[in-house]
Amino acid sequence: EMRHDIVIVGGGAGGIAAAASLAARADGLDIAIVDPADIHYYQPGWTLVGGGVFKPEETRRDMASLIPEGVKWIRAAVAAFEPDANAVILEGCRVLKYKKLIVAPGLKLDWAGVEGLEATLGRYGVTSNYRYDLAPYTWELVQSLSGGTALFTQPPMPIKCAGAPQKAMYLSCYEWERRGTLKNTRVEFLNAGGVLFGVKEYVPPLMEYVARYGIDLSFGHNLKKIDGPAKTAWFERTDADGSKAIVEKRFDMIHVVPPQTAPDFVRVSPLANEAGWVEVDQATLRHPRYPDVYSLGDVMSAPNAKTAAAARKQAPVVAENLLRDLGRIDEPRQAIYDGYGSCPLTVERGKVLLAEFAYGGRRVPSFPKWFIDDLKPSKTAWILKEKILPPVYWQAMLKGREPMAKPAHEKTSA
Ligand code: FAD
Repeated sequence: EMRHDIVIVGGGAGGIAAAASLAARADGLDIAIVDPADIHYYQPGWTLVGGGVFKPEETRRDMASLIPEGVKWIRAAVAAFEPDANAVILEGCRVLKYKKLIVAPGLKLDWAGVEGLEATLGRYGVTSNYRYDLAPYTWELVQSLSGGTALFTQPPMPIKCAGAPQKAMYLSCYEWERRGTLKNTRVEFLNAGGVLFGVKEYVPPLMEYVARYGIDLSFGHNLKKIDGPAKTAWFERTDADGSKAIVEKRFDMIHVVPPQTAPDFVRVSPLANEAGWVEVDQATLRHPRYPDVYSLGDVMSAPNAKTAAAARKQAPVVAENLLRDLGRIDEPRQAIYDGYGSCPLTVERGKVLLAEFAYGGRRVPSFPKWFIDDLKPSKTAWILKEKILPPVYWQAMLKGREPMAKPAHEKTSA
């Protein structure tokens, strides 16, 4: 039996940021991160890999190089949670005990949820920016397509980076426009949901690009089955009256975003809510039924946009509340997460619409309007996405430096 004061499940954006945030706040903590992966990925970079801007290698680092100093890395997968015993079970049935637990294993991309998809990914014009090894294939396809039909899909919410399905589409259209082939290409966006973007103020600027690129929008279309060699995809269409029908579409290229769920070992655990996500108080990020458990990142239940930008703001909230509970910092009030999330929408190569919003879809722009107007695509926001956010991720967020992520606090002490 192993034991650490603080155990963190997952060394992704949320897990590493939380470890670094803790280490930056108190000395001599006994922290262990459990993650079986050798490589850590900067997934927000994959949109730019698919758009021919980044090389894939720029989006990966060795996990070993990111584990904060003094933090132990246990290279294993967690198989189960036993929160009543303050224990997690690792694969191979080893038991790991904790005083405090942080759950951050991300979400599950359910490739098998679309019939025939796994067998054809990476071939026959079937691609996805949601996988490191496939994002370069998106750019390959975009460069070789000289006309025909290009489909872009979006599964039901919630998904990580809800804007990523359309980012892939706009960057592809921009390249076809530049090459003069867009006019020979029928582009369709097939969205399982009912709106282009969840925060309504951002829809009109996006619709200008939909019009400019001549994109056909279809809502209520959920990808169910795909046959690569036959270049055919089937969608379940839900009409306004709730009736369903199967729609068949031919394609020359299709960018698929897979259905997304909580990981299986989370979904079946006592930590999960009804939908399978780790239940948290959406302000404190503490589990309502197991006060020694906290969660951040894509796996947890709060209704924020599942983004690395959100995890960047969540990490200091989790770190402060956990250390406060352990009596390791002197802070009378709990730290509060306001639901911040961000989505830099790459509407063309060189311009980004920088959506930033909190719970309830309230817009919370980080910058003054003269610098970046969040309702207008701009070159400045593109530079932020391409040149500034990656080093902010590697050098600040994953290192516990939090110049723009100081948590707010509740009004009265609890
Ligand atoms: P992850 O970063 O996915 O990390 C999860 C970690 O948990 C992994 O290291 C994994 O190995 C580990 N793990 C899994 N299972 C286990 C287990 N059983 N035991 C132990 N460890 C386990 N966000 C933005 O902010 N801006 C963007 O522009 C943006 N664009 C995106 C574009 C794409 C194509 C994609 C795919 C994502 C994008 N995101 C973006 C979203 C962002 O990448 C995620 O929200 C973020 O990585 C979530 O962090 P996380 O720590 O919850 O999960």
